[in-house]
Amino acid sequence: MNAMNDSTQQKTPAWMTALTEWFSVHQRSMPWREEQSPYRTWVSEMMLQQTQVASVIPYFQRFMEAFPNVEALAAATEEQVLKLWEGLGYYSRARQLAACARQIVAQGGRFPEEFEALKALPGIGPYSAAAIASICFGKPVAVVDGNVLRVRARMLMDEEPIDGTAPRRRYFEELTQALQGHPEPGTFNQAMMELGALVCRPKAPDCGNCPVALWCEAFQHHAVQDFPKKRPAKQVPHYEVAVGLVYHNGKLLILKRLKEQMLGGLWEFPGGKLEDGETAAEAAAREIKEETGLNVAIGDEIAVIRHAYSHFHITMHAFYCNYDGEMNAVLCSRPWKWVAETELAAYPFPKANHKIFEAMEKGR
Ligand code: SF4
Repeated sequence: MNAMNDSTQQKTPAWMTALTEWFSVHQRSMPWREEQSPYRTWVSEMMLQQTQVASVIPYFQRFMEAFPNVEALAAATEEQVLKLWEGLGYYSRARQLAACARQIVAQGGRFPEEFEALKALPGIGPYSAAAIASICFGKPVAVVDGNVLRVRARMLMDEEPIDGTAPRRRYFEELTQALQGHPEPGTFNQAMMELGALVCRPKAPDCGNCPVALWCEAFQHHAVQDFPKKRPAKQVPHYEVAVGLVYHNGKLLILKRLKEQMLGGLWEFPGGKLEDGETAAEAAAREIKEETGLNVAIGDEIAVIRHAYSHFHITMHAFYCNYDGEMNAVLCSRPWKWVAETELAAYPFPKANHKIFEAMEKGR
């Protein structure tokens, strides 16, 4: 049988049917699949962007306990939302969720059903809009995430790098077209993503157990390891950073990052990048002075932390610092607070700062 010719004679291509049948048997149980409301699907898809399922599950459960519906999320403060997002990274997603929830509630509390209307909401991109429209409302529109890009690039032996924009657009159009008339577009979309996560993995794909191997060009040509193509990796910059835990009468100085900054809305300790020829301790003193106006005595180094962000890496030196002047002498254009160590847990901090907290715990 020529599988490709056979598939073109059917309304739904044969490989899509084989895939959804496989999914009905092999799909993993996930909390957001237990009840697929637009709200739960939206939150889970936002969390799953750039993040593994296993990491997302506890975040999703805590989030649903705190904000069980879009009204509860709309009523939350940004800080409450960021606190529950703490550690997931890409914090703009959390701020966008809160802003979008407020808009949905202002418009009556119902999610639109159509892809274009969903995409018009703040913070709902094509990926989340397609997921909600197809999974919750049965609309024939394709979800194209990293898993789908990889699977389709291998199936088609696509020579174009998948980190460019053209394959994403092409696959979206091709798969959306193929989904017209499909009885369960949402199931197919979830099946594609599940195939990428479980079988057509980035490394060591399990082609022997793949339901679409018959239709996969790369497998048929023994060229799986050559796909997908990617652009040459860019050199990731590395920065040395110094921060100070500035103590005054048992309280610590924390500063809030501005919305337009990376990690906006999160709290941090004062500090910044080392300049040429500076030691980490000198940089901490200078940065604290520049950011807060305070002259502090630099003490012991608590920790040296390495952390990778998506576009750069840092090595962060954290120092105990002592300040014995006036507490309200802080001159900072950003929000700032003096807080007790026991109060730190109430504020959302970036992940790198949690490594400082661990070092503080160990030092006790
Ligand atoms: Fe991926 Fe292998 Fe299946 Fe092709 S046969 S889609 S490479 S797992």
